Amino acid sequence: MPSPVIEPLLILQDRDTKRLALEAQLKAVPGDIARVEQKIAAEKAAIETARLEARELESKKKLIETEIGSTGDKLARYNTQQSLVKKNDEYQALGHQIETAQKEINEFEGQELEVMYAIDEAKNKFTAAEATLKANISGHESRIKLLREREVSLAAELKTAQAAVAAAREPVSETNRRIYDRIAARNMPAVVALHDVKCGGCHLKVSSEVESAARGKGLDVAGQLATCDQCGRIVYWES
Ligand SMILES: [Zn+2]
Repeated sequence: MPSPVIEPLLILQDRDTKRLALEAQLKAVPGDIARVEQKIAAEKAAIETARLEARELESKKKLIETEIGSTGDKLARYNTQQSLVKKNDEYQALGHQIETAQKEINEFEGQELEVMYAIDEAKNKFTAAEATLKANISGHESRIKLLREREVSLAAELKTAQAAVAAAREPVSETNRRIYDRIAARNMPAVVALHDVKCGGCHLKVSSEVESAARGKGLDVAGQLATCDQCGRIVYWES
């Protein structure tokens, strides 16, 4: 049994540990929510990217169609002119222009086909991205809802835990409370048992003075605490 000085400290430490765990869990919730929100945003962005891509390709297609139209007009004009000219060299020059215009049209048509394939691809991407969001959104939303509920219940649990800590501090003397707080701020657990003369916190051997103090020999009525030579934790003898 731990000494009457150590016992309330162990109770305080136990409650403090619970409080710290709750605090850590509560602190993690906003980050968890943000991660889910980021997933939703990323899925929405994928839809928007595919939509914009399809739209850009559609306007590119329209531009090519305009080019095909105007080159076609040019071709028709050359054909008419060619049917009217008498001189052979003029006929040949127009024939050359007709050939060039026809080549241009073929090229534009090839481009148009490529764009049309790309539009199909972009539309497929859009559909797939939309399906992904649709499939995941309810999961994402219920996860966020769950996290928000968890945040509320953790906050309530933390309040209870804080009250329990406050109650556990009462039976500890002011001096010991101060020692405990100082150690707990940097090293939890702050109160550890000695195992084979080794500190339960840092696992290093303590001096014989600390050992005998922990055993309660020479412990004054004020209940002076034995602390580890190495890490400074409060050590006690578990008999
Ligand atoms: Zn130690």
